[in-house]
Amino acid sequence: ETTFDINKIRADFPVLDQKVNGKQLVYFDNAATTQKPKAVIEAIKTYYEGYNANIHRGLHTLAEKATTAFEETRKTFQQFVNANEVEEIIFTKGTTDSINLVAHAYGRKFFKSGDEILISGMEHHSNIVPWQLLCEATGAQLKVIPVKEDGSISLADVEDLITDKTKLVSVVYASNSLGTINPVKEIAALAHKADAVMMVDGAQAASHCNVDVQDLDCDFFATSGHKMYGPTGTGILYGKRALLEAMTPYQGGGEMIKNVSFEETTYNDIPYKFEAGTPNIADIVALKEAADYISALGKDNIMVYEQELTKHAHQVMAEVPGIKFYGTAEEKVSVVSFTLETVHPYDVGMMLDAKGIAVRTGHHCTQPLMDHFGIEGTIRASFSVYNTKEEITQLAEGLKDIVSKFG
Ligand code: PMP
Repeated sequence: ETTFDINKIRADFPVLDQKVNGKQLVYFDNAATTQKPKAVIEAIKTYYEGYNANIHRGLHTLAEKATTAFEETRKTFQQFVNANEVEEIIFTKGTTDSINLVAHAYGRKFFKSGDEILISGMEHHSNIVPWQLLCEATGAQLKVIPVKEDGSISLADVEDLITDKTKLVSVVYASNSLGTINPVKEIAALAHKADAVMMVDGAQAASHCNVDVQDLDCDFFATSGHKMYGPTGTGILYGKRALLEAMTPYQGGGEMIKNVSFEETTYNDIPYKFEAGTPNIADIVALKEAADYISALGKDNIMVYEQELTKHAHQVMAEVPGIKFYGTAEEKVSVVSFTLETVHPYDVGMMLDAKGIAVRTGHHCTQPLMDHFGIEGTIRASFSVYNTKEEITQLAEGLKDIVSKFG
């Protein structure tokens, strides 16, 4: 059992203290985006009220203050994901942006016709479509690791699918639709044996898992700030220095250059080479507070608590008549995906909202995965540190009520 002071944690998240449709809000849509603690909200306000300025080039006091705060977030993330060097942390708009960056700046430079890219069958569209675009542009081919009935993938399948043509393997650390935690460290080792690079989609991992990019030995790691209690429009791409240095820039513009002339332009060093234009300074400054918030609670404590919540959910929700769970692998984050035999997911979502309970319904941007299970979509309840067992019991009771009235 964890020793979290859950009331204190809940008090840190102002949005939770409200009624929705006359009922106390129960927020279970954390895999889509998490709520923000006061520290994050305050940091945005403090920045705009106190030292808003463009970064890097200014010599004046506000510009220096803003630059220092911006770069503090980078240092914080170096530690947060245990990168070897601070320059290996690139700021992006989010996971989607990070993956597109790699597909362009690495893929378009190094891939050719006949090369293979390996992803899994449970990928988010943002870890599918950028590779399809890359395949269209280069003639490379996309291959897919099959998903098993319990929502996991097997290393034997990965081994079979990696060939001497495989140039890149990109797999989600924790599935947003099923919760499955994939053996990304082992997959990275298999990729490296074949001289392929390994990319990890860590959109769901940063808030739920203890990410260590050096231990995983992945080449690229992408995540989104807004799924780890940080602001929207912020993200991270971690990349190994040698790879980042070998890549072409993703976008051209200010900040990413050393020297510009009409005859020849030279590029800035990493990470700035990949940060063209004025970045989302305020939100990236505030993102530090989100990482600090997680670190202060303790990543291991969070994992223990969220496991308790997930176990409780599977127990109490199993009593709902006609419920079917998707994603029952042993290793999973706090995502519970299910359907009800007699009520359509969209109707369930609407009726839960009437009870003040926010869940997500649909394909969760993983249409191929839904096709694999032969369904249109699921109902997804995803839990964070501020959720409680009581809320989950309330969800289970709500579902029973819906089935008895409308099933
Ligand atoms: N991958 C996974 C596993 C996700 O859950 C998400 C967000 N739902 C993304 C990628 C895309 O992240 P973003 O929309 O923040 O770019």
